[in-house]
Amino acid sequence: QTGFSAEKVREDFPILNQEVRGRRLVYLDSAASAQKPKAVIDAISHFYLHDNANVHRGVHTLSERATSAFEGAREKVRRFLHAKDVKEIVFVRGTTEAINLVAQTFGRKNVGPGDEVLITALEHHANIVPWQMLCEQQGATLRQVPVDAHGDLVLDKLDALLTPRTRILAVTHVSNALGSVVPVKELIRRAHEKGIPVLVDGAQAVTHFPVDVQELDCDFYAFSGHKLFGPMGIGVLYGKKALLETMPPYQGGGDMILSVTLEKTIYNRVPYRFEAGTPDVAGAVGLGAAIDYLEGVGMQAIAAHDRELLAYAEQAVEGVPGVRVLGKARERSGVVSFVMEEVHPHDIGTILDREGVAVRSGHHCAQPLMQCFGVAATVRASLALYNTREDVDALVRALHKVREVFG
Ligand code: PMP
Repeated sequence: QTGFSAEKVREDFPILNQEVRGRRLVYLDSAASAQKPKAVIDAISHFYLHDNANVHRGVHTLSERATSAFEGAREKVRRFLHAKDVKEIVFVRGTTEAINLVAQTFGRKNVGPGDEVLITALEHHANIVPWQMLCEQQGATLRQVPVDAHGDLVLDKLDALLTPRTRILAVTHVSNALGSVVPVKELIRRAHEKGIPVLVDGAQAVTHFPVDVQELDCDFYAFSGHKLFGPMGIGVLYGKKALLETMPPYQGGGDMILSVTLEKTIYNRVPYRFEAGTPDVAGAVGLGAAIDYLEGVGMQAIAAHDRELLAYAEQAVEGVPGVRVLGKARERSGVVSFVMEEVHPHDIGTILDREGVAVRSGHHCAQPLMQCFGVAATVRASLALYNTREDVDALVRALHKVREVFG
């Protein structure tokens, strides 16, 4: 962790330097959307100030510059995920669109009546509903790997759930609601033993530790730019090239074709086949800048900081009388999810905001998981590279205020 300092990192995030309701802003909601370093904001603004034009089709200078900025960002994503080939990187709007894309292309092609799609009880709605829709369309069945009281997947059940009818396993890398880190490498190995491809929802993982898609051997990996300290509206679907090449297009339109006649369209090569229409070029440029920024800080250093701060936060929050922390998975990352005796999570969130502390309260788009834990909602404090022990201390002080208010 040489040279890493969250205090120093904070200087790169101008938004953090403000007061909210007369208090120092304590931003503990990065799992919902992370703040952006100035380098990202500058890169977007530089693009619009100097290079803006549509990509791929133009021969003029600005179009060439925009294209090279866009394709340069794709290469940065490839490097970040350690993908083999830049053609394996598809730009989408976010994790949600990445998963819908796979469900509606790979899924429609490969999932038929009587087949099964396997997810887990830890999933965000973005990794449930697209599969539910697919299963409804195709007459297939959605099944799930259960979760135990700690927030770990019950992996004893996995082999029985990976049946000859299972066409894909879709699993989160890190639970956004509990912070459980799923041993995805093991799940992938076990699914592959039966010839079943695996999609990993990496929305909450890429922000906290290095991810290597070749080492994981996942078939698909999805994440969102805005959680990775980049802009909203851009995200990534990684897919193994051989697999992407078997998949039909997602949306039809410009850029995804090689030639069009009224009778027949020849689709473009991957990844362009999946990128119909004008992409979010500035978004991709901003995401590329975020990746440069994170690599400059060092993902290993970020991982070490996040681990250390999470341990501190869990202990501190648990020390508040009446608080119960949910989810004690063997390995955890990024979030402390908790409830407080007799106080509704929304009331907690509101009082914390008065103290300048931003957290999320609700079901975190994981209603089936909340049901497993017998709660409708929790309060979730989520951590990022710019959070400090001081932030956690402010949270704890504010939680004591909540106790005072509710007597
Ligand atoms: N999966 C997980 C684990 C998430 O945390 C989120 C965002 N909360 C999503 C998927 C959806 O991401 P987006 O809304 O950026 O598409």
